[in-house]
Amino acid sequence: MKRTAFFPGSFDPFTKGHADIVERGLRVFDEIIIGIGTNTTKKRYFDIEVIDAVIKGAFKDEPRVKVVHYDDLTAKVADDFGANFILRGLRNTTDFEYENTISQVNRQLSPELETVFLITSPELAPISSTIVRELHKYGADISGYIPYNMEKLIQKQD
Ligand code: ADP
Repeated sequence: MKRTAFFPGSFDPFTKGHADIVERGLRVFDEIIIGIGTNTTKKRYFDIEVIDAVIKGAFKDEPRVKVVHYDDLTAKVADDFGANFILRGLRNTTDFEYENTISQVNRQLSPELETVFLITSPELAPISSTIVRELHKYGADISGYIPYNMEKLIQKQD
């Protein structure tokens, strides 16, 4: 059986923490589909097309990584893309509390779909998209937190 994992997230922006989960996930799965959630009720800070481009650029030499956009239930989208696993990262107990509930609901929605968690690499645990956005908003250097060139990251204009 081909092991395909769906890695959903807002990725606003995609960070070194996310890249680490994908890279380590590739040791476990045959293919990883990164799903950028386009939840219309949540206003994005970075333009989704830019995030799409930087993720594709970061994995341009890895044909086993694909990038899609979605605005639907994660379990349904994972099924639609033929994924048999959901991949998520765990940084701390706050992530755990949240992910625990979500994974149980997802399994009720789709009993065959297993959620697999990778514990974050310790040096990347403090990184969150929220903090990176905040640093960027006030003009701090975020190049140490993202796996691509800063110049490629253009803030959403509206
Ligand atoms: P969401 O809005 O769905 O929480 P995020 O883009 O914030 O999406 O995160 C997507 C996934 O990546 C989540 O499973 C989150 O726990 C994980 N993640 C975020 N930052 C890190 C990090 N620094 N190390 C490992 N996993 C992370």
